[in-house]
Amino acid sequence: MRTAFIGLGNMGSGMVASLARAGREVVAFDISAEALEGARSAGCETATSAAAAVAGADVVITMLPAARHVSQVWREAVIPNSGPDALLIDCSTIDVDTTRALGEAAQSAGRLAADAPVSGGIAGARDGTLAFMVGCGEEHFARVEAALSPMARAVIRAGDLGAGQAAKICNNMILAVSMLGVCEAFALAEKLSLDPERFFEIASKSSGQCWSLTNYCPWPGPVPSAPSNRDYHGGFLTSLMAKDLRLSQEAASRTGASTPLGAQALALYALFEGLGYGQRDFSAVLQLLRGRLADLA
Ligand code: NAD
Repeated sequence: MRTAFIGLGNMGSGMVASLARAGREVVAFDISAEALEGARSAGCETATSAAAAVAGADVVITMLPAARHVSQVWREAVIPNSGPDALLIDCSTIDVDTTRALGEAAQSAGRLAADAPVSGGIAGARDGTLAFMVGCGEEHFARVEAALSPMARAVIRAGDLGAGQAAKICNNMILAVSMLGVCEAFALAEKLSLDPERFFEIASKSSGQCWSLTNYCPWPGPVPSAPSNRDYHGGFLTSLMAKDLRLSQEAASRTGASTPLGAQALALYALFEGLGYGQRDFSAVLQLLRGRLADLA
């Protein structure tokens, strides 16, 4: 299976390495020469343009920053240059409307399209343990799953085209709200002179237990692998969380869904990003709530 892969950044670089490790033939493209060099060392062939990468590919995967990049690459390179039997999969996180519009453009050109945004971050991309949330027709899912499986610990069909993006933004809204809840609890525990390690031990075995607490604990110490122990470097960037919350709030406003906590989460993450902390892990918002931003210098 020949896979063209466009977008070799934090996520795409690990994803192509996982595909190459599994013996897939990968033709990679990025506008960054450094990213291309990385893909070559990971065992991929590289192309000089997106159009050249997709020609002759059975599967085309894009992993780009935002909707405008995906629209441009799909409309100018992927749809016109891919073969009639190619399967086109966008794994970026973008809005549902753009996904559906691009899918329809692909289908009218006779191509099969799917959306498959991911959860699992840079480590999941590197280790081939991402969770893919797929939007595609049921009859095409087996083909999409086979294309993604070397990069995945789970490939789950959310529904038809666009449903993967819908699942992704709803999931990340839970994540943002739960992280803020955990951060507020640690900030209050501190004011109440509770020992944070002891509080973690209790909450992680009580009804406050959640992924934000036990996998990404914002208080340094209790979870050694959490970004809080690396001065909040690595992990899931605040700027990406703010981006995903913007997507969920735009969707809520368009559909009339009531998401007051999502709106508050966006306000806090946008503020934190505006203060210059967009490149820190999103759990660093604890230091904003503690009034200890100076500790992040
Ligand atoms: P990134 O900015 O690190 O990488 C994007 C890559 O796309 C860059 O290498 C850039 O040079 C390349 N690019 C931009 N325009 C291009 C074009 N026209 N042609 C070819 N290449 C182009 O971003 P990332 O962290 O890898 O994230 C990619 C997507 O995955 C985003 O939509 C993000 O929201 C989503 N995502 C990221 C994470 C994460 O933890 N980083 C987790 C889940 C989902």
